[in-house]
Amino acid sequence: MTGTRPKPEASAAGVLRVAVDCPLRTLLDYLPPPGESAPDLPLGARVQVPFGPRSAIGVIVAQAQGSALPGRRLKAISALLDREPLLNAGLLELLQWTAGYYHHPPGEVIAAAIPAALRAGQSALAQERWLEITAAGLHASLSGEPRRALRQRELLKMLAERPAGISLTQLDALAPGARPAARALSKRGWSRFTARAADDSAATPALMATPRSAAMAAAPELSAAQALAVEAIDAAAGRYGAFLLHGVPGSGKTEVYLRAVARCLERGANALVLVPEIGLTPQLLERFRARLPVRMAVLHSALSDGERLAAWREARSGRARVVIGTRSAVFAPIPGLGLITVDEEHDSSYKQQEGGCRYSARDVAVRRAQQAAVPVVLGSATPALESLHNVQLGRYRPLPLPRRADQAAAPRLALIDLRAHAVHQGLAGPVTQAIGRHLAADGQVLVYLNRRGYAPTLLCTSCGWIAPCSECDARLTVHREAAQLRCHWCGATQPLPARCGRCGFAVKPVGQGTERIAETLAAMFPDAPLLRLDRDTARGAADVEAVMNALLDGSARILVGTQMVTKGHHFPGVSLVAVINADQGLFSTDFRAAERLAQTIVQVAGRAGRGARAGEVLIQTEYPEHPLLQSLINGGYEAFAAGALAERAAARWPPFSRLALLRASGRSAADALGFLRAARECAGDRPPVRFLGPVSAAMARRAGRHHAQLLLEHAGRLELQRFLEAWLELVGRLRESRRVRWAIDVDPLDIQ
Ligand SMILES: [Zn+2]
Ligand SMILES: [Zn+2]
Repeated sequence: MTGTRPKPEASAAGVLRVAVDCPLRTLLDYLPPPGESAPDLPLGARVQVPFGPRSAIGVIVAQAQGSALPGRRLKAISALLDREPLLNAGLLELLQWTAGYYHHPPGEVIAAAIPAALRAGQSALAQERWLEITAAGLHASLSGEPRRALRQRELLKMLAERPAGISLTQLDALAPGARPAARALSKRGWSRFTARAADDSAATPALMATPRSAAMAAAPELSAAQALAVEAIDAAAGRYGAFLLHGVPGSGKTEVYLRAVARCLERGANALVLVPEIGLTPQLLERFRARLPVRMAVLHSALSDGERLAAWREARSGRARVVIGTRSAVFAPIPGLGLITVDEEHDSSYKQQEGGCRYSARDVAVRRAQQAAVPVVLGSATPALESLHNVQLGRYRPLPLPRRADQAAAPRLALIDLRAHAVHQGLAGPVTQAIGRHLAADGQVLVYLNRRGYAPTLLCTSCGWIAPCSECDARLTVHREAAQLRCHWCGATQPLPARCGRCGFAVKPVGQGTERIAETLAAMFPDAPLLRLDRDTARGAADVEAVMNALLDGSARILVGTQMVTKGHHFPGVSLVAVINADQGLFSTDFRAAERLAQTIVQVAGRAGRGARAGEVLIQTEYPEHPLLQSLINGGYEAFAAGALAERAAARWPPFSRLALLRASGRSAADALGFLRAARECAGDRPPVRFLGPVSAAMARRAGRHHAQLLLEHAGRLELQRFLEAWLELVGRLRESRRVRWAIDVDPLDIQ
């Protein structure tokens, strides 16, 4: 095919620009398939194209008159897979914007937004299996056949009453266990199975038709602030507007999302609801289902390929009116989008941190709302400093939700000076006393520690040897229940030794992890049932749910957990929260560490006293006089945020500047740093951006590779973008780039 077409012919039929799943930073040009002309092929449709020695499936992104490639080198598309676009124009534009803004290959960004089965060429339309009666079957049914098989006779009668057929889903609902009978009837030639596009089936119309008044009857009464927020969001329908819904934990943000989504559905539009954690989706889904009489689709990373495909098709067909999901759901195909909500917008899990395109789903959501001209609601008890700054600039409209009248008083925060009290196994005297007091008063206790495992260090008390990871600059964490040493950086494991690897003397675990704190508390309070919640004890949403239920029904009295306990769960019986170690966030080299610490403390404190009584929050620290802790204790998150924003402005950190981070890893420090140095040099003597580094990462050696980074800063977003565009071209061509793995991270969250 190549070379047989002279150039003029190529431009006559036009050229198609196709995104293929590969690391190229550009789109690829193809001719239309023989007999077709480029303008007739739908943008967003999948095509099969020759790609090097193999064939690949790509997506048509643009049409062009001609190509920079000489006509003889242009190849033709081998097959068109969709007559209708798989991705509509709005979504295609959003994906291209994402690829451009985060400087990631467009083919990879688009491929990541499409379920695996569709990337492999399967039909975009959902297929459903149906059962129909045949003419012979109808005749047999009328004469009362089959006489000796009751189930088959009943099923045949049922089919005779439904000459259009019945989907197997409906069959399972109406006649559970009837499938063997269905197979037997089909063998006799009295019925047959067919495949139909699920979109035509209009299955379960009952789910769609519940009248509004009946569904909303169970809705609680809104506070004045909630009602104002709902009205403000509703009034913005049909145009872009960004709102920051800022309310303490328990002030009823979810109710505002729910009402705003309900209004959006009433107008006939569909809604996208983003949550930070897979663990929160069942909770939220249940609440939405109880109140909104529409189909919903759930998209998150723990779905199987089949589940993802089904949910994606539900969303794309518009049958699902609400799409609830985590980070990648921001790219869900949703026709007639009318509203986007982003719950816990400060949460770092919205940012893709490892591998692939390092996008922020929150920021992409705001962009999507702009493109689709719809309102977007960002909600949090502890908004990101960027979002608060956007309120100050007038870009986001604030929707404050003060403490509700029926809500318990704000929890009392107090610092416990670890230097001033006796400390037993990581717990200061006043903390264990408070735990005893709250348990005696029938309260529940939440103990937060951001470190899983038994102890972070295994030490030889004779020679000072510390168990290291052989592949990382990290110590191995002791996991006593599993009798293992584990590296939390690379995942390496080894059996827990009883003796020193160097001198043979006895070793001992030093420091506290959740496993050890739980062991200590269980020994101190043997009558109080205790549970632990961390990545070792909870592998999926079901495990988290089980722990939550045990706390809700009172069968657990103490919960020890990591970050997982700070996220969204409601524990009305918890009257005391203990933060075991606040100090990790106080002296970090990462300028965001203080913000993260403040958010964690406020979020975990928010779990306490959500029932009738005010909660007590005790924070263990060796630095009770630290200004961050002081402003948080005395003025709350607002006071902290005001101070932190002033510091950022003085230091020219975001949101007062824009950052990008070029990360590299190589077999040696010389390779990684050498590449970054060359990258910096190729920007010339007077680059328009400020470079910081290159430096080795805080945890430099990980999984046997040396990690390093080069930070770029500019006051202006556009200027930084323009620079990156040209510079990354040069960086990709550097000889040194062949010895490393590198990636660009625009608006990085973690810069250590
Ligand atoms: Zn030793
Ligand atoms: Zn390791």
